[in-house]
Amino acid sequence: MAEIDGATIVARALKQQGIEHVFGVIGIPINDVAPALQAEGIQFFGMHHEQGAAYAAQCAGYLTRRPGVCLTVSGPGATNTVSALANAQANAWPMIVLSGGSDLARKGMGDFEEMPQIEATLPYTKYSVVAASAKRLPVCIEQATRAALYGRPGAAYIELPGDVILDRIDEDAIEPAATVPPPPQPQADPAQIEAALAALRSAQRPLLIFGKGAAYARAEDELRLLVDLTGLPWLSSPMGKGLIPDDHPLSTAACRTYAIQNADLVLMVGARFNWIFHFGRPPRFAPNLRVIHVDIAPEEIGRNVPAEIVIAGDAKAVLAQLNRAIEQSVWRFSGSAWVEKLDEERQKNVAKAEPLLDSNDLPMNYYRMLRVIRDVMPRDTFVTTEGAATMDISRQVLNTYDARHRIDAGSLGTMGVGLGQAIATQLVNPRSRVLALEGDSAFGFDGMEIEVAVRYRLPIVFVVVNNNGIGGGPEELDYDQPLPPGCFVPNIRYEKIMEALGGLGFFAETPEEFHKALEDAFASKQPCLVNVKVNPGARRREQQFAWSAHAGATAHG
Ligand code: ADP
Ligand code: MG
Repeated sequence: MAEIDGATIVARALKQQGIEHVFGVIGIPINDVAPALQAEGIQFFGMHHEQGAAYAAQCAGYLTRRPGVCLTVSGPGATNTVSALANAQANAWPMIVLSGGSDLARKGMGDFEEMPQIEATLPYTKYSVVAASAKRLPVCIEQATRAALYGRPGAAYIELPGDVILDRIDEDAIEPAATVPPPPQPQADPAQIEAALAALRSAQRPLLIFGKGAAYARAEDELRLLVDLTGLPWLSSPMGKGLIPDDHPLSTAACRTYAIQNADLVLMVGARFNWIFHFGRPPRFAPNLRVIHVDIAPEEIGRNVPAEIVIAGDAKAVLAQLNRAIEQSVWRFSGSAWVEKLDEERQKNVAKAEPLLDSNDLPMNYYRMLRVIRDVMPRDTFVTTEGAATMDISRQVLNTYDARHRIDAGSLGTMGVGLGQAIATQLVNPRSRVLALEGDSAFGFDGMEIEVAVRYRLPIVFVVVNNNGIGGGPEELDYDQPLPPGCFVPNIRYEKIMEALGGLGFFAETPEEFHKALEDAFASKQPCLVNVKVNPGARRREQQFAWSAHAGATAHG
């Protein structure tokens, strides 16, 4: 009878569940697992730090709808993924972390890298187990896959003890596991669809809001049809951008504050009333806001704002039902006063941003720098971004035209996600262009991962927006004073790091230089880093509600 080792069992079980990429950092006791994966035809991407590997994995999960997988060593390797588990869980993205563990036979003896890994990962996962024997490995991986994909997607964790990975057993002894089918896509009760339509008909100032749950559900066609049929004004969350193209006439992105403050009814699809949507409460939203809420997770609905109509279902399936009902009843929103007022507000705000976009002051402000990206970047480029000012202002200046083409710091506002997310995005979309837009502080969390892009020949264009630190730093360091807590060495030449690693580096201080550098970077089809200097004193333009604009307040620019 054929013998098989634990590492090969892991690889075959992942293959069975449809996993195509694994990101990780090898070492004891998982050294045998990575080659076993490769032998099964799974691509293994060796990263520099587990955080980069784990952020890449959760992003791959979002983009592929199969769990993104990360492989790490025991102990500190495992705990280095905890923030990514939390990030995946907060974003509702499917991922599985597989970490080595100290030998079962030596638990509690002070083994090499022995740590309480299950306890560390438990609060941030839907499923967290120690694989207790080689023969049960496929069952653990099946259960982790189902936990990650079904219901609200999220994170799963499996500890692989060294003696389980190295164990050799008879192939016949392996416990059989099922291949997890794609998740169910629950529909709404037809009565709820009728009630939702009646509520929409009764609204004076309705607003459709959607987020990355709708993006994950691939609901773009249904959302576009809904807006075509009804003429509803709409707003997307940061990562919902692109489900309907940003240049659509009913977009309220440029009059967001006014739209949410004055809407009397919100149809919320695959997004939450968390900090990103100001908890759905006054003064940002109207008091007595009426809500129709569609979410795969019933327990989410009603949080912070009571929902008049509760629809626990899949965004794509439910919107298809709603569209059919609207087509049958031939309803179209006819409140022209609301749409006209939104237009007026939009024009006012667009006019306010124009001087910033046109400014030729040096160093450049963020708006001017981003206008160059807007002018040069191909329309269907994926943008991954992080860093407060960089990320926030780019949301206003850079339009997104396709679904899931903007990936950012997400529901937790995590910094350090950008490099891994850019790498995963390029791998999953090998023929597309990816621009990784990084604040200099954000870049520093995980900057060494640009070597991964060079090694695997991923033609990502990294842009480092250099303002000398967290929220900007001085042009010169004064050692007679305590250094500002967020400052870096001024004018770091980040592009030289990329050159040292074998990619192309560009440095730009003026809009013209930046334009040329970006054009050359895109044309080269190689991994590139463009280091662009911006004014360390530049900020977002004045916000009406600075107190809850948290994304702007952390200033990891
Ligand atoms: P955003 O940050 O874009 O506003 P959130 O992450 O806050 O979005 O909310 C996304 C919501 O989408 C979560 O509450 C999640 O449960 C939900 N969701 C995930 N998958 C689906 C799906 N297939 N259909 C509907 N809702 C979904
Ligand atoms: Mg900065």
